Amino acid sequence: MGRLIIASNRTATPGEPKAGGLAVALWDALTERGGGLWFGWSGEISEREHRGIRLSTEDAVEFALADLTEREHDGYYLGYANRALWPVCHYRIDLARFDDEHFECYTQVNRRFGGLLHGLLRPGDEVWVHDYHFLLLGQELRNAGWRGPIGFFLHIPFPAPEVFTALPQHQRIARGLAEFDLLGFQTVRDTRNFVRYMVEHHDATDLGDGRLEVFDRIIRTAAFPIGIDAAEIAYFATSENGRSDASRLGKIIESRALVLGVDRMDYSKGLPQRLQAFGRLLDDHQDLCGHVTFVQIAPPSREDVGAYQDLREELDRLAGSINSSYSDLDWTPIRYLARGYPRETLAGLYRMARVGLVTPLYDGMNLVAKEYVAAQDPEDPGVLVLSEFAGAAEQLGAALIVNPYDITAMAEAIHRGLTMPKEERCARWRELNEAVTRGDIGRWRRDFLAALDAVGGGRPPLRGIRSA
Ligand code: ADP
Repeated sequence: MGRLIIASNRTATPGEPKAGGLAVALWDALTERGGGLWFGWSGEISEREHRGIRLSTEDAVEFALADLTEREHDGYYLGYANRALWPVCHYRIDLARFDDEHFECYTQVNRRFGGLLHGLLRPGDEVWVHDYHFLLLGQELRNAGWRGPIGFFLHIPFPAPEVFTALPQHQRIARGLAEFDLLGFQTVRDTRNFVRYMVEHHDATDLGDGRLEVFDRIIRTAAFPIGIDAAEIAYFATSENGRSDASRLGKIIESRALVLGVDRMDYSKGLPQRLQAFGRLLDDHQDLCGHVTFVQIAPPSREDVGAYQDLREELDRLAGSINSSYSDLDWTPIRYLARGYPRETLAGLYRMARVGLVTPLYDGMNLVAKEYVAAQDPEDPGVLVLSEFAGAAEQLGAALIVNPYDITAMAEAIHRGLTMPKEERCARWRELNEAVTRGDIGRWRRDFLAALDAVGGGRPPLRGIRSA
């Protein structure tokens, strides 16, 4: 079997411990094959005339990292990836900024990176490209002459065609995507959206079994629901660090029930609606005043994008307004912590929370939902309140599923979670935990690579071949 080559905008840091489910999973994928190559942006911005790649080796895995210039960082990363692709894929066309120069820069970076990566490939290699930063990388590798297998996994939603077509450059992106041999999505919902888009807008023929004939190629599509390292989260939740950090919060909230939200501060996460729902809960159930505390952890992200600054101001205003209406001498209803915490701390907090609130307006998967489940005490688990628009809802139907736009229904779901009998909590949790552990991150990686192997596997190139 040839080498595995992973291309992702950010890679794990060479020489440092690999933390977080995804970084560990990709690292394992490389080391299990006895080595391979991880290619991506170094995280550095430089203006050097000669901008080649930095090579380093760790445990038979080679890292090949390239810098971006300031202009590339602005156009490709902040501009097209974060201001056009991210909002459109999360159904926020209203927040998208379509700028031809940003797209030009995006294509140039994909071309430059494709050229650099092509120079490192050897016959027999399998390439696995990740995410919305590199939608055109497969095409650039083909243009450079690569004929071997290329798989792609999208870590954000693929929206309905009616939304994706708002991207002025969607035709060019579709052409680029068709150069991958295998396209993996997080959910059945996203896979169907992509297939429908290719059929309705590019005359693709749906050959069944996830195969599509489009632009004279046969490509494969499938859902690979991404998961977490459930065993690690369960371990963290009862670890010394996890428990001692949780007990710091415990001293403040005392015996009150904890309702917890953990998110990156992003407009896709439904944070204003969630705060409003908690306010509605207090309005409608005044007996809860003084007996429940909502902790929302949300470190700012992408502060250089204007929409994020507006969101932060809105959250400050909402939390302030609810707190000023309801706080008492010894109780503040909402504690809003705009910072990140170590994974052990989060796991300890998840375990302490009677209700885990995961209510994005739209989310590709949402790993926090799965982490919350994995961290629970099987004998006395909390209740997950989950948005129907999180990809995780396809697997976690035993949660209390809510419409994140329906403030009253969300408030009632929180109330139901706070008052749910233990027997029902345990039954729901067992079902959820079964789904989370069965579909963990290891399974995701193995399933994707098995599908990619099936594409490569020494078979003739797919171009122009009709399926049997
Ligand atoms: P997204 O990829 O959109 O941020 P996910 O829920 O899929 O959303 O993944 C978020 C990851 O980031 C989870 O593993 C979660 O534990 C972590 N995370 C989210 N918020 C925080 C925080 N405040 N501090 C530390 N880690 C966080």
